[in-house]
Amino acid sequence: MCWLSNLFKPKPPILTIPHPEESRNFQSNIDDLSFFLILEEWFGKWKVPLSYQYFWRARPIVIVPGLAYQGANYPALTWTDRTEIDPTWANPGVLAHEMAHVSYSFLTITDVAQFNITYQEVKSDALVKLLESQNQYMKTNTTELHAEIYRYLGEKMPDKLKAFYPKLF
Ligand SMILES: [Zn+2]
Repeated sequence: MCWLSNLFKPKPPILTIPHPEESRNFQSNIDDLSFFLILEEWFGKWKVPLSYQYFWRARPIVIVPGLAYQGANYPALTWTDRTEIDPTWANPGVLAHEMAHVSYSFLTITDVAQFNITYQEVKSDALVKLLESQNQYMKTNTTELHAEIYRYLGEKMPDKLKAFYPKLF
């Protein structure tokens, strides 16, 4: 092999996070009524199946200026009632994270245990490794790990994990 053929050897594609974090928008004037635009953007970018979109459209989501978090689900522990989102953080990525929590609420204790086992099996996946190298928040606990994988990897997450995201795949 000569130096010339090396020069033209195709380089492996550079790995990037499929859904990188959107920057905070301090000028946001989004309200409860216009939030559906974010919902539609999330459906499109994260490829939310058409058959589940009705479910997500029915999820009560309220815009709360000055919220202490980017977003949060209530009531604590079950997250069955509603989602609150700070207007400056009203973007598809934050929504994807919060909706992953809603999806997680459908998992049984056995499912969660199985998710943890499956996650160990896919840890060598290149995108999972890349995300782990950049993201500290996913190390908080299993629920945040579950949400961050969906938020940043979306449909590019390892296929084996998708079974643990009811109504999202
Ligand atoms: Zn969270």
